[in-house]
Amino acid sequence: MIIDLDKKTHPFMSLSLKISASPFGTMKERYIKRMRQMDSKSRIQTTLDAFNSIGATTDGMQRLAYTEEESRVHAVFSEFCVKENLQVRTDEAGNVIARREGRMKEAPAVAVGSHLDTVYSGGKYDGAGGVAAGIELIHRLNEKKVMTDYPIELIAFAGEESSRFGLATIGSKAMTGLLKAQDTKQFKDKDGISLETAMNTAGFPSSTLGQAVREKSAFHAFIELHIEQGRELERKGRKVAIATGIAAPTRLKVTVEGEAAHSGTTPMDIRRDALTSASRLVLDIEEAADQEKKYQTVATVGVFHVFPGAMNTIPGRVEFNVDIRGLDVSSKQRIITAVKEKSRQLQTEKDVEVSFDLLRDEQPILLDENVQQLLAASCREVSVDPLFLPSGAGHDAMNMASICPTGLLFVPSYKGISHNPDEYTAAEDFVTGVDVLEQAVMKLAGAKEVKMSG
Ligand SMILES: [Zn+2]
Repeated sequence: MIIDLDKKTHPFMSLSLKISASPFGTMKERYIKRMRQMDSKSRIQTTLDAFNSIGATTDGMQRLAYTEEESRVHAVFSEFCVKENLQVRTDEAGNVIARREGRMKEAPAVAVGSHLDTVYSGGKYDGAGGVAAGIELIHRLNEKKVMTDYPIELIAFAGEESSRFGLATIGSKAMTGLLKAQDTKQFKDKDGISLETAMNTAGFPSSTLGQAVREKSAFHAFIELHIEQGRELERKGRKVAIATGIAAPTRLKVTVEGEAAHSGTTPMDIRRDALTSASRLVLDIEEAADQEKKYQTVATVGVFHVFPGAMNTIPGRVEFNVDIRGLDVSSKQRIITAVKEKSRQLQTEKDVEVSFDLLRDEQPILLDENVQQLLAASCREVSVDPLFLPSGAGHDAMNMASICPTGLLFVPSYKGISHNPDEYTAAEDFVTGVDVLEQAVMKLAGAKEVKMSG
């Protein structure tokens, strides 16, 4: 569907703006004039403020996947795009795709984008920052009257966060053929509403979901700009990071079985305490991950249950979950091997049983080397010294990487805080990110005839 400012285009969309001629020009002309009077930083802030006027709560931002808030923020995004002369359509999965034609009509698109949905009690920058950066990129190209060979697409992916349905990057999965219509039935939110129902209510029935799939030939490249959600940039005093890949999690459930017994009558030397053994294993996991520092592999025990959990009973059983992430498969495997070796020692020394269940073993995604080099060259052109980092979090870029050469750029997150109302990235840091993105997109899209306006 093509967004027309005069029409309601969406079941949830209540915003309807009229383009009316007035002595001061059309709304679009006034918008362009106003934006041109601003600097890059103010424009990005204006866009972000418009996005974050939707879903603001007393406890952060809340624009969950396939809710009215997400539809409304998509409508605001569409308005910005229409004002920047982009052709806007919403696909069958709810992704909003804004296109700027290039000289070569049938050529694959150079795409940029991120998402506008949030977690519960989320921040203002995760996803939204990347989409606002995309609008700023288009504004700059328009202002400089840049013509490109390849078309450029700016995409706001739907339902990136897993908070509502326990499934992440829904829109980009659908676009890349990784989400089938029948899969949408099994995921439910906390009220029991299935993803299928929620998508249907939002105007995206599962019967047409397949039409959202784009072929490999549709894209020349994809680049996502996102907040880092970690502290490496801040720690190293840098402004931009180029992701080398996306570190998929390997998750294990570890069960330590000992024997529950009376805490007062059981002497220390005959105890089979599951908790003291499990505690040793947790420290072993930390040490094993520490050995893999140079591969940037990380391991975390974030869930830990003690049974029966009574003051006067020696713990008979402990269950805990381990989350291991990294780009290097063998590095991740070495941590698992080391911990299994330690557990065998414990079984003999402490007479406990240790078992491991593999909950998930996802393959890390390595991002395109050429795109990384192109992003690095783009950084140098704007005097930015980039950091190369694996992404510990999943992003829409990981799905796009399955159909086209993909890059992922990070800008700093204040104290690494994310998925939290305190999440913050300074507007000037997005400006630097757009400076890099602009260089990269111009190169990828073949911006040969750059004419300065005025
Ligand atoms: Zn995000």
